[in-house]
Amino acid sequence: MKRTSIPLLLLALLASVTNANAQVRSRVDSLLAAMTLEEKVGQMTQITLSVFAARDTPHRDSVRLDTAKLREGIVRRHIGSILNVQDGALGVEGWHALIRQIQGMATRETRLGIPILYGIDFVHGANYLREGTIFPQNLALAATFDTALARRAGEITAGEAYASGLPWNFAPVLDVGRQPLWPRFYETFGEDPWLASLMGRSQVTGMQSSGRVATSLKHYLGYSNPRSGHDRTPAYMSVREVRESYLPPFAAAVRAGARTVMVNSGDIDGEPVHASRYWLTDVLRGELGFQGVIVSDWSDIINLHTRHRVAPTLKDAVRMAIEAGIDMSMTPTDYQFADDLVALVREGAIPESRIDQSVRRILTLKAELGLLDAPFPDERAARRVGSEASAAVSLRAAREAITLLKNEGGVLPLRKGARILLTGPAAHSLTALNGGWTYTWQGADASHYPAGPRTLLEAMLKRARDVRYVPGTGFDSTLDVGAAARAARDADVAVVAVGEDAYAETPGNIDDLTLSEPQLRLVEAIEATGTPVVLVLVEGRPRVISRVADGAKAIVMAYWPGMQGGEALADVLFGEVNPSGRLPFTYPRSVNLLVPYDHPRTDELGPTNANAFHPQFEFGSGLGYTTFAYADLRPGATELRSGGSIPITVTVRNTGQREGTETVLLFVRQRFASLAPAVKRLRGFQRVTLRPGESRTVSFTLSASDLTYVGRDGRPVLEPGIFDVMVGSLTASFTVTGGTAAGGMRR
Ligand code: BGC
Repeated sequence: MKRTSIPLLLLALLASVTNANAQVRSRVDSLLAAMTLEEKVGQMTQITLSVFAARDTPHRDSVRLDTAKLREGIVRRHIGSILNVQDGALGVEGWHALIRQIQGMATRETRLGIPILYGIDFVHGANYLREGTIFPQNLALAATFDTALARRAGEITAGEAYASGLPWNFAPVLDVGRQPLWPRFYETFGEDPWLASLMGRSQVTGMQSSGRVATSLKHYLGYSNPRSGHDRTPAYMSVREVRESYLPPFAAAVRAGARTVMVNSGDIDGEPVHASRYWLTDVLRGELGFQGVIVSDWSDIINLHTRHRVAPTLKDAVRMAIEAGIDMSMTPTDYQFADDLVALVREGAIPESRIDQSVRRILTLKAELGLLDAPFPDERAARRVGSEASAAVSLRAAREAITLLKNEGGVLPLRKGARILLTGPAAHSLTALNGGWTYTWQGADASHYPAGPRTLLEAMLKRARDVRYVPGTGFDSTLDVGAAARAARDADVAVVAVGEDAYAETPGNIDDLTLSEPQLRLVEAIEATGTPVVLVLVEGRPRVISRVADGAKAIVMAYWPGMQGGEALADVLFGEVNPSGRLPFTYPRSVNLLVPYDHPRTDELGPTNANAFHPQFEFGSGLGYTTFAYADLRPGATELRSGGSIPITVTVRNTGQREGTETVLLFVRQRFASLAPAVKRLRGFQRVTLRPGESRTVSFTLSASDLTYVGRDGRPVLEPGIFDVMVGSLTASFTVTGGTAAGGMRR
């Protein structure tokens, strides 16, 4: 290709994008001009599928719709969006039949023929598609520290959504998991805002890469830190803390082009986010520049009246939410929202121009996703779901996620010829490997699961002959601990797989983070036999194990590793895979000390060291079957001027006997600042794979904006002074000169 043709190509590309934008604008304009107020408000109304289901469902292959009810929604109420599943996952055929019926009615029976925007929760793969690829939950994905993998998982998930006829995915969850009691902890990318930003951004980029599927960042903002630890209960945080620890992933994903955002059901310092003009309009639209659609969460406009009690009537609730900046209400079971909104406009309480803003965003989204021209499922894409290649990506993700937290005396990897006892409630359970949002909302109904994928037991039996399985205990009930202990006495090693069975949202609330009593008793009984114990943790949040952690020779964190999790775990246990996962959160030692790693130093140094920070396992922990050593940590300059950047290099060497992957974590600490600085904050990571004896120099670039923190006034500030960079046990430092406020954010 001749060099001169590149600028021409770019110009042509730019021209075609501008042209496409102009076309979308003019189509949206003409639709909007033709719409009645009721039709506009209908576009802002989202209803759940079960409202339209015929009474005689359940079903497994299809949803039978009640045509009269569907007509009421689509034709008479002009709704713009439908969401969810009826009882559980459908096959591709079932989805196609459903979407064809819905779009058929929307395009043929309504005056303007605007297609429905169908929304679904594909939160760890295509989890409501029977043939779909199921990935590890996000918490496990975060443990891979592999952004390319997050992106690939996003592409596959969105590809399978599109193949099902579903253009809108309510994912990814970008809440930062800093409250481990919270039952949605596993849906997050862990406790670190930097890691969550990079993983989230990659997933959004992957999911939206075809242009045919929109993501929904959720749940904006501060949802993941309820004081009680229970789902949908209040958070009490300063604006500074929200901006420092919870806003960054949303900001990064908005910059990456995320098309929609779903709102937090809870409140922050008494202000329900669904009624917060500050968070939704001033910050999300004003500061972050978000131009897409803001959708409420389930019933949350109604909740402003019934639960938060900031709206004296339902109609006030609607007014407050619209004034705050919401575009679409997941009502989700009735049309009261639409009736109230029409009335508010007629009364002059809300100008019609405000309605036009939201409808324009919704129609633009439909146009840009291609729905106006192609509302029906793409039959050709359907052939591509659930491929072996996609399952292989899920397997790779699970293998990279599994985190070896302890390995005393090299008890792992297991010898294939050893006499192995496998016990514990997670040993032979697919539901526990997959967790919530798997075929059903709670994910705990094994009858919905396919026959093929292997549990840990099945995967171990495939690899070794002498594996004896004794259940020992259920997750919450004791079966026969004695039988398991007797079997342990005859074994060379006991693998005890404990943790949590699947749950989702509020039903997963607990009051005590301690691992359940029957499971602790099982581990204690096996440990008492003297047979070395390998403790495998299969769980959505870190259940406290301090009673049994010291007695276990090895501890393996599996998270909820997804449909390939049994295989991946067996690979790691037998050493076919050298583990490389890193813990993306602080594993607490006791239920009352839930402090994330990036706390200020004051959290840590009392006069008698009584405040010592001593979690069970620190953020970033993770061993392998080889060892690595770091040397020569070097900033490329002694000084960084505000607005500039500084290169940092470090050499990592594989000092062990086999090839392995090390995730190099770069932390930064400001020695002194106007507000107590964090003891360290992650500011870079890279995975490197090295053969024994091999070494590599890894480079990072720290820019001035990476060193800011959110100051008292809510703005990022860069303060001059000495900064330490830390990798492994190495520390080096440089000086920042001429710092400034790094502008833009305010309250
Ligand atoms: C959850 C959301 C989800 C929505 C639709 C809500 O209960 O909080 O994460 O997208 O339901 O299923």
